[in-house]
Amino acid sequence: MKLCPYCSGKLPKNAKVCTHCGMKIETKKKVKQEPKVEKQETTSSETMEDYMYQAMGLEKVGPLYKWLSIALCICLGFLGAHKIYERKYIMALLYACTGGLCGIGIIIDLLVLFHKPKTYYVYRQKL
Ligand SMILES: [Zn+2]
Repeated sequence: MKLCPYCSGKLPKNAKVCTHCGMKIETKKKVKQEPKVEKQETTSSETMEDYMYQAMGLEKVGPLYKWLSIALCICLGFLGAHKIYERKYIMALLYACTGGLCGIGIIIDLLVLFHKPKTYYVYRQKL
C-alpha cells in the first residue's frame, strides 16, 4: 500500500492513477547505474622504459630530431657534433679525437639514426 501524494488516499502498490482524485502518480524511476568506466592507466611501453632507465640512473634526453641528428652526423660527425646534440659529451670527445671512430662510428650512427622515429629520445648517464 502507498498513499497518493495529492489526496493522501490509500492506493494499491502498482497504481499509476489515483482512484480517489484521478491524479497521475509518478513512480520513482529506477536510476540506471552507469557502469563505472575504469580509467585506463597509460602504462605504455615508453613510460615503462623511462622507469627502467631512471632506475639504472640514466637521464632521458630529448625530443631530438632525427634529420637534424643525421645532418650533424654527416657534416660534423667527425667532430662528434651529433653526440653533442644528444648530450653525450664523452662520446663526442671520443669522436672528435678519433675522427668519428675512424668513420666507423659515423656509419653505425647513421644506420641507427635512419631507423629512429622523426623525434626520438636518448638516455645518458646522469652526471
Ligand atoms: Zn489522490
